[in-house]
Amino acid sequence: MTTTHRLPQKRHLVTELPGPRSSELTERRRSAVAAGLGSAVPVYAVDADGGIIVDVDGNSLIDLGSGIAVTTVGASNPAVADAVAEQAHHFTHTCFMVTPYEGYVAVAEKLNELTPGDHEKRSALFNSGAEAVENAVKIARLATGRTAVVAFDHAYHGRTNLTMALTAKSIPYKHNFGPFAPEVYRMPMSYPYRDPLGTDGVAAAQRAIGMIDKQLSADSVAAVIVEPIQGEGGFVVPAPGFLPTMAQWCRENGVVFVADEVQSGFCRTGDWFACDHEGVIPDLVTMAKGIAGGMPLAAVTGHADLMDAVHPGGLGGTYGGNPVACAAALAAIEAMQTLDLAGRAREIGEIVTASLSSTAESLAASGRDVIGEIRGRGAMIAVELVKPGTTEPDPELAKAAAAHTISQGVVVLTCGTYGNILRLLPPLVIGDDLLREALAILGEALAAG
Ligand code: PMP
Repeated sequence: MTTTHRLPQKRHLVTELPGPRSSELTERRRSAVAAGLGSAVPVYAVDADGGIIVDVDGNSLIDLGSGIAVTTVGASNPAVADAVAEQAHHFTHTCFMVTPYEGYVAVAEKLNELTPGDHEKRSALFNSGAEAVENAVKIARLATGRTAVVAFDHAYHGRTNLTMALTAKSIPYKHNFGPFAPEVYRMPMSYPYRDPLGTDGVAAAQRAIGMIDKQLSADSVAAVIVEPIQGEGGFVVPAPGFLPTMAQWCRENGVVFVADEVQSGFCRTGDWFACDHEGVIPDLVTMAKGIAGGMPLAAVTGHADLMDAVHPGGLGGTYGGNPVACAAALAAIEAMQTLDLAGRAREIGEIVTASLSSTAESLAASGRDVIGEIRGRGAMIAVELVKPGTTEPDPELAKAAAAHTISQGVVVLTCGTYGNILRLLPPLVIGDDLLREALAILGEALAAG
């Protein structure tokens, strides 16, 4: 890939991590920032470009996190930076609900074109993934006149009240934050590594459908919401057939099928959207993260008849579809197209999978069979870590390996219901050499245990 970068694409540590200036900021933060906010990596950023993040002490770290799947086109993509500056010089805000502007309309047109399916679509823009999900549920309820919403085990849909209810994991997301929004029903997911139904996705969907029929009956269900590849829950890729079977059942029963592509969208999995892989066409798609090169923007796109069912004024928000964020989104989407970042995600997937597979083999050969599964798609790959030779989750190993990797200047994130998963979400503009170096360090961290 021939992208030029502003910052040298080299890992370079000049202090131990965290360095003294980062440690000072951590102290300042303690008396200024609420303790409920965590940070995965204890260094403070001053610059970022391509696959590199520079911290306040002058250390250059390799980025395998993209700020949780956001900076797909890079954290300072020049086209995005120019579009942001240009728009900010004209106006930063008027509110689309007061005096609208072309950028919002242009983003909606792009999303209508890029999301799965050729049907007539409409889009509405918001600020965060959680807000997009909330609005998808509002639209589905109003359009169907029904209230129940089905979500799945291991799901993550956000931290607002309704999306906490949809999110599966209690600690840290939900614990003692209740009561939660009613009318949310949780069904088993297809999680091939841990599911007795294994790779039979159709059977896993039928299991969920059977439970829906028993517990609430189809005609009270407004929406089924699913991440086509689960993010926070552990990069769980449902077995083939699961998503198409759920989508088909929704179609037959007048239930709105919502694909939450907040983490998996915008080239991350090697297609525009993860649903594209099996040709699944959702009624509504929720998007955020990678959409706007790091600027806060989110969207719901879907069938024109569903989206237009909502009365004028029923959707909105002061900042939703902010003009600077829209300008960034148009530039980011164009960069994804011109640089073929979906293709790049597939290449990254091959490099990552090959490296992790060889790490798994050498670990197994040395009697530490701790990689239970390598899974994911494109540039959304994870390793599930287990106690040697078993399927028992090993969250301590995930924590230790992440800490070791980070101490060597590689930003890596954990996830999973059991906290035992290392997930790799590099910016899609990272170079091969930097990626390979980061993977080698991760391999050493796993070997060190
Ligand atoms: N849905 C999914 C699938 C996500 O991964 C996330 C964020 N991790 C959200 C929703 C919530 O997005 P946000 O943090 O922007 O509210």
